Amino acid sequence: MFMDDVRKMTEEEWKKKLTPEQYHVLREQGTEQAFTGKYYDNHESGMYECAACGHELFSSDTKFDSDSGWPSFDKPVNRENVILQDDSNYGMQRTEVACKNCGSHLGHVFPDGPKETTGDRYCINSCALEFKALKNK
Ligand SMILES: [Zn+2]
Repeated sequence: MFMDDVRKMTEEEWKKKLTPEQYHVLREQGTEQAFTGKYYDNHESGMYECAACGHELFSSDTKFDSDSGWPSFDKPVNRENVILQDDSNYGMQRTEVACKNCGSHLGHVFPDGPKETTGDRYCINSCALEFKALKNK
């Protein structure tokens, strides 16, 4: 879907398109329970796209095991594909990660990622992502 189309979607339309869990995470800034998502332990090669609009967000090349129970990446596939914004909900000072194309919530980024690469940990909800495996490795 293109940006104009997804930006025009109403919350009622999002509710129909997404599962209740996806709606809660993507549209209400929810967080799935750790170790329950489908991708935290996924080690296949491919691309993680926005579950709401299909925008490319994270490559499996940047995914690492953080033991947090959520898929963790040291950077987005392109910094232009995500929005980073301050989030002071729940009395914590965090940086929210959202999809640049549709504005949906994805997760948070923390400064405790692998030091040998970026030092960032993009902590992303599995249900906010749709994984597309690479066909020919
Ligand atoms: Zn999106």
